[in-house]
Amino acid sequence: MKEIDKKKIRSRTLAIRRAIDAMDFLSSGTLLSRTKVCGRSNCRCATDPEQRHGPYFEWSRRQDGRLVHKKLTEEQAALAARAIANRREVQRLLAQWETATFEEIMTLEEDGKRG
Ligand SMILES: [Zn+2]
Repeated sequence: MKEIDKKKIRSRTLAIRRAIDAMDFLSSGTLLSRTKVCGRSNCRCATDPEQRHGPYFEWSRRQDGRLVHKKLTEEQAALAARAIANRREVQRLLAQWETATFEEIMTLEEDGKRG
């Protein structure tokens, strides 16, 4: 394997590891944001869809094999959204890392054949 190829692959995997290291939160699940009608006929929400109550946030995720729903504040919801986005990004980075690992290991085989 050419030393320059190995260096290229290593710098790619280093960038992947640094990107993962820079993350704080990570989670599976989905985040729902919804608004509600309270049911009082004299309330602003009764006639104007823009005046509905909320938004209310709900985080659904699997925990010990069960689907768990939690209500979140707006601040918590922002963190949960970041955690969910981070998990998707980590999955994308892990796939790249796996490809880089495969490429490096397979090129070692070519070295063996040459010698
Ligand atoms: Zn209302």
